[in-house]
Amino acid sequence: MKLGKFSIGVGDRFAHQGVAQLRAIAKANLTGLDISPVWNKSNREHIYVHSHPADVRKEADAAVATLGFKGKYFVDADHINLTTVEPFVETADFFTLDVASFIGKESKPEDVKAFVDSCAKYVGNLSVPGISHPLVVTNELLTEIAGKFLAAAQQASEIYSYLEKAKGAGNFVTEVSMDEVESPQTPVYLLFILKMLADKGVPVQTIAPKFTGRFNKGVDYTGNVDQFAKEFEEDVLVLDYAVKEFGLPEEIKLSVHSGSDKFSIYPIMAAVIKKYDKGLHLKTAGTTWLEEVIGLAVAGGEGLDLAKQIYANSLGRKDELCGPYADVIDIDEKQLPSVAEVNSWSSEKFANTLRHIPGHPDYNSNFRQLVHVAYKVAAEMGTTYTGLLEKYADVVGSCVEENIYERHLKRLFNL
Ligand SMILES: [Zn+2]
Repeated sequence: MKLGKFSIGVGDRFAHQGVAQLRAIAKANLTGLDISPVWNKSNREHIYVHSHPADVRKEADAAVATLGFKGKYFVDADHINLTTVEPFVETADFFTLDVASFIGKESKPEDVKAFVDSCAKYVGNLSVPGISHPLVVTNELLTEIAGKFLAAAQQASEIYSYLEKAKGAGNFVTEVSMDEVESPQTPVYLLFILKMLADKGVPVQTIAPKFTGRFNKGVDYTGNVDQFAKEFEEDVLVLDYAVKEFGLPEEIKLSVHSGSDKFSIYPIMAAVIKKYDKGLHLKTAGTTWLEEVIGLAVAGGEGLDLAKQIYANSLGRKDELCGPYADVIDIDEKQLPSVAEVNSWSSEKFANTLRHIPGHPDYNSNFRQLVHVAYKVAAEMGTTYTGLLEKYADVVGSCVEENIYERHLKRLFNL
């Protein structure tokens, strides 16, 4: 099972927007592209909204049937590990093996030494085709990389073996993610991480490194854009080299997690994948939930009231809601409007404050990040929330579609 060149992760927390998300992708594909949708949902999201992995499969199949979509599509067991994978096995065909928590775990000295020895031919000034400067590889560096990442690669191979037994080799797509950590993995690190995965027989089709800079949830990239550009391009070239050198699947591509709304780096990614004719996987999730809240606000009346209630609750429970996301949000409390102020807002004012239009005078990224992590509040509202999603499906669905097509796919693929 091959992922295909371009794929977009479209997480949908409340499982009501599959058709709207697919409409956006189908529209982009009318231009001749072949973007595969991947419905991703993590164990954490399932716990918060009380859903089951099988629900995601149902939603994906139903959306594809409704629109008669003819392309490939996938269901991603997002950020699973050995303890959480089991309920996903039957209905997912894409598995994101999250090994971040194994980075830095100690490996046996003899395993580290064996890895370093196996890299003897790369020691020195290693030239990777396309990268203008040689990668400086020393035994010291290799020891450091092995010390940090061998345990993570080992963990990836254990999860992969489990899946291979359960589903059969070739019946699913394997992604390896290491993005939820503090320090970025540089291109030379990525190169040797790929060698470890290849050595251990993990046929990784897409890999999500931690890139330089901050990938905060639902808002634009913050960091050094030039450094990101250099790193992203070198990562692409490293992947190419790793395919030839280590025998990894030739379709291997980068996966960009927390990939929604990173508008300032989309043109960079677009230029690099075009320059080298490479693929890309971009994972999004919460951006669709935010469009649901925007859609309800736009609907007005009870929809707007509910959107305001979600904000009021999320402000009151800010610490609890932000806690699990502390590393991936940056909220300036002083910039958060009061409940009284928000309660006085019109539909338009609420939507413009939440909608991600950089430069719009009403846009408030702090407000947006807080609502982003507040989906638990809506989940607790149960059918009060989902009932309004159904009642206002047209307006909500058009917000979801517009967001994915106009603000994401158009920028990513130069449409
Ligand atoms: Zn991730």
